[in-house]
Amino acid sequence: MKYAIISDIHSNLEALEACLQVIDAEKVDAIVCLGDIVGYGANPNECVDLVRARADHVVVGNHDCAAIGTTDTDYFNPDARAAVDWTRAALTAENLAYLRDLRTTLQVEGALLVHSSPSAPRDWLYIFNLREAVQEFRSFTQRICFVGHSHFPGFFIERGQEYAQKAPPSVVVGPGERAIVNVGSVGQPRDGDARAAFAFYDDARGRAEIKRVFYDVERVRSRILAEAALPKSAAERLVWGV
Ligand code: ZN
Repeated sequence: MKYAIISDIHSNLEALEACLQVIDAEKVDAIVCLGDIVGYGANPNECVDLVRARADHVVVGNHDCAAIGTTDTDYFNPDARAAVDWTRAALTAENLAYLRDLRTTLQVEGALLVHSSPSAPRDWLYIFNLREAVQEFRSFTQRICFVGHSHFPGFFIERGQEYAQKAPPSVVVGPGERAIVNVGSVGQPRDGDARAAFAFYDDARGRAEIKRVFYDVERVRSRILAEAALPKSAAERLVWGV
């Protein structure tokens, strides 16, 4: 089976559409979404509609939970909180109900899907480095775990007692190995590359690959700036991918 795994769309419709175009050209068997469909951007309903229509497996992210009021936003910075309030008011009742019904984790074939971390999926922990990844490997038994949340795409590999961090673009999870794959962010990359990010995964070959896709950043930027209640930083950071 070949999968496309998208995450952290953050109401960025252009980025989502650009990624889906690349995904459609690859003819995948299933599309997986790791959450944070909304938050920051100006098109929450369009993005939820598209994910509902196109994704086969979807888990919830912390910004989705914030929008439906099922997670604490005390730790959100003021800009993120302003975006949450705007998003909650903008979402249709139908899309709010859809987000409310999403699961926190899912298992698909030999893969675990979670927005933040397998050890505490509702605590929204980040996996930034190898030390954190080593801890997380103890919390799941599947061959591979796909995460988003940090908006930094990359790979962590476990082989027996040995661990390694690998940079994009690709990795092959060999026999006796397990992996944590961060698929990056479709709608708000933060690794200094402004292009949208997502992953392909071929489970027969154990191969995961991060794709980067150009989209019309300027159009998204001006649409966010046109919404007075949305933070300007959410628009400006897209230009630099930070
Ligand atoms: Zn996110």
